[in-house]
Amino acid sequence: MKRLKLYLLILLATCLYTTSPCKAQQKIKTMIVTGQDGSHWWQGGSEAIKMILENSNLFTVDIHITPDWNEDISQFNPDFDLYDLVVINYGGTTWAKPTQQKFEDFVSQGGGVVVIHSSVVGMDDWKGYNEMIGLGAWNGRNEKDGPYVYWKDGQAVYDYSPGWAGYHGLQHPSTIINRSPGHPITNGLPTEWEHFKDEIYARLRGPARNLEILATTYEDAGDERGGRHEPVLWTVKYGKGNVFVSLLGHAGNDPELRYAMECTGFQVTLLRGAEWAATGQVTQQVPTDFPRKGIITLRKEFKAPSHAFDE
Ligand code: ZN
Repeated sequence: MKRLKLYLLILLATCLYTTSPCKAQQKIKTMIVTGQDGSHWWQGGSEAIKMILENSNLFTVDIHITPDWNEDISQFNPDFDLYDLVVINYGGTTWAKPTQQKFEDFVSQGGGVVVIHSSVVGMDDWKGYNEMIGLGAWNGRNEKDGPYVYWKDGQAVYDYSPGWAGYHGLQHPSTIINRSPGHPITNGLPTEWEHFKDEIYARLRGPARNLEILATTYEDAGDERGGRHEPVLWTVKYGKGNVFVSLLGHAGNDPELRYAMECTGFQVTLLRGAEWAATGQVTQQVPTDFPRKGIITLRKEFKAPSHAFDE
């Protein structure tokens, strides 16, 4: 018995004074919410996000699947407070009021949120969610929902002119421009980098309060107003909570159509945004395989290559 006590004491001391044996306890506890999306392979996309996060050794991830379309959405009522971070990869039915309230409380009290791609489309009739995502698209959004936001002449433009919200053309590679090199998420990333073939959303609008644009890409939205530098990565402060939105990461209908998520830029900005949303800081080095101007790089295994953190 005495020996066991001594062993436990040594173990405790080891946990307190070294990082490696107990690191699992310090990982960011993450919930992915998914389960409905009319236009995306939410199963495969969510599995990719889980792999990206867990392969970094910074996160532990549970996937929570909502009821399907036409099932009772009120059955989706998880305990958000068990987690540090909620990743939303969901383009479906608006959650029931009690779940909405619990989620608003979770975020306003400091819970972290990451919003992926088509998660800015649904739940348009939930005011609190629109405030969290800052900008949304389609589903009848227009000037009643808030301004368009885009980048021009070195600053964000808030454009209150009337009009529809949400457009995407054919998928294509894009040049991403870092608009906030001082923010922890984008600090140290190149001024410009290439993003692999993806579906780029344009002409978003929404409440856009406490919003900071981190990165944009130039996209034509198919009308007489021409192209704009559209936000693709941004943050929103909601109460004490941090929200990171990535419009990147379209997932098609089979494993060959997850290429946008295979892009190193998508994965690294997701990892940095997720850590920041959960903790307010980013401890990750910029990896050597991060894309650059004119250079696309992929991580098909959804993890950093062994040389990624070589000096
Ligand atoms: Zn898409």
